[in-house]
Amino acid sequence: MTTTAETFEFQTEAKQLLDLMIHSVYSHPEIFLRELISNASDALDKLRYEALTNTELAPLTTDLHIRITPDRAARTLSLEDNGIGMSRDEIVRFIGTIAKSGTKEYLKALREAKTASDGKPLSPELIGQFGVGFYSSFMVADRVTLLTRRAGEAEAWKWESTGDGTYTLEPSERAEPGTTITLHLKPEDEENGLSDFTREWTIRDTVRKYSDFVSYPIRMKVERRETERDEDGKPRKDAPETVTVEDITLNSMKAIWTRPSSEVTDEEYKDFYKHISHDWSDPLKWSTMHAEGTAEFRALLYIPAKAPMDLFMRDGERGIQLYIKRIFIMQDCKELIPEYLRFVRGVVDSEDLSLNISREILQKNRQIQTIRKGVIKKVLDTLRTLKNDSKDEFLKFWGEFGRVLKEGLFQDTSNREAIMDLCLFASTNSASDLTTIEEYIGRMKEDQKSIYYMTGTSRPAIENSPHLEAFRAKGYEVLLLTEPVDEVWVGQMFEHKGKGFQSVGKGTAEIGSEEERKKSEEELKGREAEFKPLFQALKERLDEQVKEVRLSARLTDSPACLVGDLYDMTPQMEALLKAAGQEVPTSKRILELNPAHPIVAKLKDLAATDVKDSRITDYAELLYGQSILAEGGQLPDPSAFSRKLADLMARGL
Ligand code: ADP
Repeated sequence: MTTTAETFEFQTEAKQLLDLMIHSVYSHPEIFLRELISNASDALDKLRYEALTNTELAPLTTDLHIRITPDRAARTLSLEDNGIGMSRDEIVRFIGTIAKSGTKEYLKALREAKTASDGKPLSPELIGQFGVGFYSSFMVADRVTLLTRRAGEAEAWKWESTGDGTYTLEPSERAEPGTTITLHLKPEDEENGLSDFTREWTIRDTVRKYSDFVSYPIRMKVERRETERDEDGKPRKDAPETVTVEDITLNSMKAIWTRPSSEVTDEEYKDFYKHISHDWSDPLKWSTMHAEGTAEFRALLYIPAKAPMDLFMRDGERGIQLYIKRIFIMQDCKELIPEYLRFVRGVVDSEDLSLNISREILQKNRQIQTIRKGVIKKVLDTLRTLKNDSKDEFLKFWGEFGRVLKEGLFQDTSNREAIMDLCLFASTNSASDLTTIEEYIGRMKEDQKSIYYMTGTSRPAIENSPHLEAFRAKGYEVLLLTEPVDEVWVGQMFEHKGKGFQSVGKGTAEIGSEEERKKSEEELKGREAEFKPLFQALKERLDEQVKEVRLSARLTDSPACLVGDLYDMTPQMEALLKAAGQEVPTSKRILELNPAHPIVAKLKDLAATDVKDSRITDYAELLYGQSILAEGGQLPDPSAFSRKLADLMARGL
């Protein structure tokens, strides 16, 4: 067979990533071995899973294993598995390109970090978060060859690259399906962590450290040299050395989640996390569970320390692996974890499910439902413990995943209270510290009826918005909600522990005791008559923008503000829905005036004398625009507004 190797270019992002791998110095280059073993173990999992439904593949699964073969003389290290292998098409797709969304931005950040690191080793966690996997070979090798044959196919393929931007691909031969990766190692460089990775003990230590629990044997042939010994056990002089070759298994293969947690070290738990998550940094927290009863299962669940880039992508992965009686079933079992806990990684191993369960059956399976409930409860419990016992760690968690967890407030009504107890919020109580709802309730004023909140795009925008004035003057605390998800849950959260939620930008402001409120209401009512002409003039001018003009109890300093009715959509929510491509009508709001403000008082007098006074219509637009600006909003027509303002300024001088 004559073969010609075809040359391909790596996709741009892949090229840049490789370039970083090659030209950076890493603090732990030996983790390339963990990455390759992880991939091999995944490939074995996949073959075993395919063989469950494709009986033709079953004979291939009798001795699934990984083999490491060092060659000191040639300075190569090869890693072989008899797993699923790759077709030509799969090589091009999986190895030549990076399909992850957000890659460009991430690489940019990495390159900047590298420049900033000034020649110091680049933190492997930084790049590992990305899941570079196979490319990590180029930390230790200057040329990599991959020989692979897809299970069920006859043809094998040889891939080769020096990581310089191109790779070659040619048809080849391989007796059995599987993959062999051969690394042509860079020169040894102890100073930069480049040990001699062909040495038996370097390999044994690295495998034991990072991959001991891999559930397939990782084998290696080792040489045993022995010289005949005398009666005292000393090597006999001049006796010939005998060399025997022994095939040893480097890992203990114990499924970590089946072992009592008292016998598993933290290091082992951390390494297992890295193995399943392809994340290079330590997890923040983990917990184990063993449930018996209606469903018997074990679970090992991790909370990562950092959010992955694709946390908010629609097709982002969810990381719970499903095993049935120690046999890997699937990678990303969505049925086991709700969306709002999609950051959780780990393993669930069921004793009761049938091995040939299909994705369709999973969705309706009662056992799975029970396991899912248990997993949710466990994760929420773990988070509660973290919050109570290690505030700083919990704050870290909150910073990374709080926005996701809050989705649970409307996705999972049965756990709403437990989730709310975990939530932290910015509030007017402190410029820097976040508060829980419980703490907030503890600080509530005696006459305060509801939990007050305001939504908006940023803390300064909300804090300075006029809606807060009277609340602030009265000493009421207001939650400052600035994330898009807040708009959704507050709309559905009617109460927590007997306290209702009330937006300070909606409805009539309920400030003070029952008595005080009544009094202020009556007072405003009493003044309505004198303001009637002004209301009329403003309403006429602003008919398209506002549905009502009225006097306000919530303003102390500002002349006016815009509020919504209790169930109206906020302008932020409108913007969100529009950004998501939905058609939403712009809802009209209510213009509230501060009767004590000099502008409002003067306008009232003008209107009382002549409703048609042209100054009123000019001021109407200015008041409306100013109210939008004051709450941090965007004017529909900024240039018209600024022309009006300039006119007025000129007249005022
Ligand atoms: P990741 O493992 O994070 O997906 P990698 O770059 O390590 O990223 O690998 C990319 C893909 O290449 C894998 O998802 C897998 O489909 C394929 N692959 C890598 N190594 C092997 C292997 N030993 N056998 C079969 N497929 C593999």
